[in-house]
Amino acid sequence: MSTLDCGMVRVSRSPAATTSWSITADLSGHTGYLTVMPPTSSLCLDCGLCCDGTMHTTVALEPADDRAVLQGEGFRLLVFETEACFEQPCVAFHGSCTIYDHRPMKCSRYRCALLRQVDSGEVTDGEARALVADAIALRDRVRPAIEALAGTTRKHSLGVLVRKMEDALEALDPAQRLETQSSLELDVAALLTLLADRFEPRDSLPIVQSYPVETDGDPDVV
Ligand code: SF4
Ligand code: SF4
Repeated sequence: MSTLDCGMVRVSRSPAATTSWSITADLSGHTGYLTVMPPTSSLCLDCGLCCDGTMHTTVALEPADDRAVLQGEGFRLLVFETEACFEQPCVAFHGSCTIYDHRPMKCSRYRCALLRQVDSGEVTDGEARALVADAIALRDRVRPAIEALAGTTRKHSLGVLVRKMEDALEALDPAQRLETQSSLELDVAALLTLLADRFEPRDSLPIVQSYPVETDGDPDVV
């Protein structure tokens, strides 16, 4: 534990927590805690799975998000009565977020389960990077294989691609299907399991929501 003690204020960091600091302040007998996060984690700079469509199909907007600004940035917004979301892969993702200072509220709060475990010291930075590398390797095998199988040129989220894969496999004759299915489906299953187990466990409270939508046509697009 690294600690800096200045009388009423104590700043501390656990040795394994590479990305967050805790501040404890004792003011007039009342103790408060504040965890300070840096603007982004270097792990995220080498990852991007929560922006490139691998983890999420859509991201819900909040009332404070400026829809006009996002549309000006090229975002394709999907509107469900009073709610709105944008599709992933995010148009602002080019290796990193290109609208970082005015990204949507949910993006600015989002930390996947793996990053939270790095923050708390449960997982080392090295372990997390190895998991990110595994997920990226699987993504890079799965995505082009499904795009070729389904004959799609537009960039879709993994969720949409998996549905396209199922449809394309269904349309193959049984012999072709067996041949294609085995290795591709194993890779897809490995990727989905890794994402669910380590990045966004199903029992965690989703901060970025995914809407179960096929975004080729409906719903209302603005
Ligand atoms: S998936 Fe997690 S580690 Fe990767 S960029 Fe998103 S928050 Fe960071
Ligand atoms: S706006 Fe930025 S942080 Fe949000 S999904 Fe797009 S690239 Fe990621």
